[in-house]
Amino acid sequence: MGAGAPTIAGRTAWQILRLPTAEQMFVHARGDVFESTDPATGEMVAELQASTTADVDEAVGAAAAASASGWASQSELRARVLYGFAQALRADADRLAELLTREQGKTIHEAHIEIYGSAKMTEYYAGLARVVYGRSAVLGDEVTGVLLREPVGVVAVITPWNWPLTLLVRSLVPALAAGNATVVKPASITPAITVEALALLASQPGLPEGVLTCVLGSGGTIGEALVGHDGVDMIAFTGETDTGIRVMKRAADGLRKVALELGGKAPNVVFADANLDKALAGAENAIFTTCGQICTAGSRLIVEESVHDELLERLAANAAGLRVGDGLDPSSQLGPLASATQRDKVLEYVERGKAEATLVAGGAVLEGDPYDAGNFVSPAVFADLPAGSSLLRDEIFGPVLTVQRFADEAEAVALANDTEYGLAAGLWTQNLDRAWRVGRAIRAGTIWINTYHHFYDEVEVGGYKRSGIGRQQGLEGLYEFTETKHLNFDGKATLW
Ligand code: NDP
Repeated sequence: MGAGAPTIAGRTAWQILRLPTAEQMFVHARGDVFESTDPATGEMVAELQASTTADVDEAVGAAAAASASGWASQSELRARVLYGFAQALRADADRLAELLTREQGKTIHEAHIEIYGSAKMTEYYAGLARVVYGRSAVLGDEVTGVLLREPVGVVAVITPWNWPLTLLVRSLVPALAAGNATVVKPASITPAITVEALALLASQPGLPEGVLTCVLGSGGTIGEALVGHDGVDMIAFTGETDTGIRVMKRAADGLRKVALELGGKAPNVVFADANLDKALAGAENAIFTTCGQICTAGSRLIVEESVHDELLERLAANAAGLRVGDGLDPSSQLGPLASATQRDKVLEYVERGKAEATLVAGGAVLEGDPYDAGNFVSPAVFADLPAGSSLLRDEIFGPVLTVQRFADEAEAVALANDTEYGLAAGLWTQNLDRAWRVGRAIRAGTIWINTYHHFYDEVEVGGYKRSGIGRQQGLEGLYEFTETKHLNFDGKATLW
């Protein structure tokens, strides 16, 4: 490695390029070299080798062999390995956060939240690794039934790039806690942070070989090969709805189990009786977190007529004042979009919006030093949208907020539910009866009332409608990765 070699949070890119190194033997990748780049500067962050379909066969084979080993019956070991992983994440948080910011673009503050949040969720499931058991019942005088929970087998975990560690951990860790063997396929935009974090898990003492494997490369080839592989029993996929549908169709050929966490277009409803200061701050958090690249983004603000103009005016002023910049600069409140493709997609919607609605803030490509080399767009707010606008309908996945007005509660609910998605929603009111009524009436998996974007590991999340199938986090998020088996004993059995 020559002088001047790019470094990754203090390490050289060479160490990533030479996959698999001794600490990365879980990565099966012998194909072409590809790069990940910093969306703030355009500089290379890491070079990695992609997998071939032969590598997919090898990884799945190793996982299948491991799933037949004793891992499934070693709950104490599983808990120990996962606790060790959580501790390693905490110990390495600064280095990982810097790498995450450089590869994904998010602010360094948010990157720290993601690393520590991933550690916290891992600790939660490390505890649950020891409660993967079923129940028994005496069924009448003569029969005893025992319901067992067993791992599904080999679980493929396919992740997106926006919260690459949280969304990895949210599937991978409960899958392992339940005793499965796994094959991870990270998004091509964020492979280095994923491999670096997985290396901490792979190095935990006692983790049997093959229980954790990883393949790298494009979704269209490596992802497809994995989803269609006969040795895979279940696919836990997080990503776009259209990709999820494709994954489900392909999985159907082998009748493989799927858990799908997909897109969103969350409404955020503000009633006139709300604490408007809180609602305003909540609306900004809802849409501008991760530069709008978050599945639960509150991208449709729906405001009661009498406070609409005031809220819109304050929102536009605040949006214009947000500091957009390199995520490594601690003063940045929004980073760049994660890729040039994502920036161009956002700008296409901004142009459509300008043609059919009122742009009240932002929506411009930021130019000049230090913006020229990155994917920076100023946060955009649109009002006066025509019914049926694609800005109201499509998941833009960027810092673009639409603001609509409503006259009464019935119209608020109708507008909130006027979407194919159902992942999350926000609701701002001081009227408890209304909060209950409207919260029940909105069809979404998570409803935040007078708050937004608070997640708890203990509580299930997931989507209605086109936002997904299954639930993650909480106990159900563990049980997703199990099969139940009923053993039925004839006679008043003394079992053990
Ligand atoms: P994509 O659907 O484009 O990709 C997700 C993952 O699937 C990537 O690893 C991708 O690989 C892979 N992939 C792509 N095509 C296929 C295929 N045909 N077969 C198998 N795998 C494939 O999503 P993004 O990465 O763009 O992530 C953004 C999306 O994720 C948004 O829609 C967002 O709402 C959703 N999301 C949902 C969450 C939830 O909890 N419901 C949470 C976070 C995000 P590659 O990178 O190589 O293309």
